[in-house]
Amino acid sequence: MRILVTGGAGFIGSNFVRRLLADGYPGLAGADVTVLDKLTYAGNLANLAPVADSPRLRVVVGDICDADLVGEVLPGHDLVVHFAAESHVDRSIEGAAPFVTTNLVGTSVLLEAATAAGGVDRFVHVSTDEVYGSIDSGSWTEDRPLEPNSPYSAAKAGSDLLARAYHRTHGLPVVITRGSNTYGPYQFPEKVVPLFVTNLLDGRRVPLYGDGGNVRDWLHVDDHCAGVALAAERGRPGAVYHVGGGTELTNKELTARLLDACGAGWEMVEYVSDRKAHDRRYSLDIGRTTTELGYAPAVDFAEGLAATVAWYRENRAWWEPLRRSA
Ligand code: NAD
Repeated sequence: MRILVTGGAGFIGSNFVRRLLADGYPGLAGADVTVLDKLTYAGNLANLAPVADSPRLRVVVGDICDADLVGEVLPGHDLVVHFAAESHVDRSIEGAAPFVTTNLVGTSVLLEAATAAGGVDRFVHVSTDEVYGSIDSGSWTEDRPLEPNSPYSAAKAGSDLLARAYHRTHGLPVVITRGSNTYGPYQFPEKVVPLFVTNLLDGRRVPLYGDGGNVRDWLHVDDHCAGVALAAERGRPGAVYHVGGGTELTNKELTARLLDACGAGWEMVEYVSDRKAHDRRYSLDIGRTTTELGYAPAVDFAEGLAATVAWYRENRAWWEPLRRSA
C-alpha cells in the first residue's frame, strides 16, 4: 500500500506518519508513505526526525496548490490523507488569503488529481469541529449545517464541501473527519496549550481571551490520528466522522490545569480582549464514529496533558527556535 500524507510535517500529520511507520495502525501496516508538505512556518522536518531513516518514507517539499507537482506525486497512491492546511484562527483574522489559497484551492487541486489518477481507494479529508460554528448545549451530529464564524473555519468548511462534491460528482471515495481541539507534543507554540506551557516555562505571563468561559473538547493527538486511521481503513465513502476527546473544559479550567502542571499561579495570567467572533462552545457527537469504526478516545486527559507538559519541558531545543521565528 502507498499512502500520500499532505501536511505530514505539521503537528497532527507528523504524529500520524510517525505512528504509521511504527506500524501502529494494523490496517495500514507495512505501507510506504509519501509526505507532501510546503514547510510553512508550521511545517518542520524535525517533527519527522524519529522516522527520517525509514526506507518506507519519502518527503516531497512542495505546495498542494501546485497542480503540476501534485499531478506528478499523487498517482500510484492507494490512500490520500489530507492534513495540509493553514490552521491558526488568529492568523486567519489577521489575513485570510493564505487560508483561502491553501485550504480551498489546495484541496481542490488534490481532489482533481486524485480523480484524474484513479486507483485511490480512499481520500481522507481531515477537518475540524469549527466548521459548525458554536453550540450552547448538546452536541453536533454530522448532518448539522455548517455555520463557520472565522476565516479559518470558513475555508475549512469550503474544503469539506468541495470534498463532498467530488464524491457526489465523480464518485471519488472521500471520507471526511472532523476533529476537536487537539493537543500533544510537536504542536507549534502559537496554539493555546503549547503557547501557555512555553510561556510559563520561560517565566512569562499567558494571555487568556475574554472571560475565559469558552468551552472546548480536548483530544489527544494520538486519539485524533487513531480516528483518522480508522476512517482511512474502513470509513464509508461519502461519510463524515467526528473525532472527539470527551473532555470539555472552559479555557479558564484549562488554564488552571496548565498553571498547576507548570507550578505557576494566577498572577501569571493576563486577561486580554476577546478574539473577534470567538465561538463559545464546540461539542461533537461521536456516536457514528464509535458505532461504525469502533473509535473511542483512549488517552486520559490528565495523563495526556502531564506528558505533553513534560515533553515541552524536555524539548526546548525543538520549540525555542520556533518561538524566536514566530
Ligand atoms: P499545522 O499547522 O501544525 O500543520 C499544517 C501542515 O501543513 C504544516 O506542515 C504545513 O507546512 C503544511 N502546509 C500548509 N500549507 C501547505 C501547502 N499549501 N502545501 C503543502 N503543505 C502545506 O496543523 P495541524 O494542527 O497539524 O492540523 C492538521 C489538520 O488538522 C488541518 O487540516 C486542521 O484544519 C485539522 N485540525 C486541526 C485541529 C487542531 O486542534 N490542531 C483540530 C481539528 C482539525
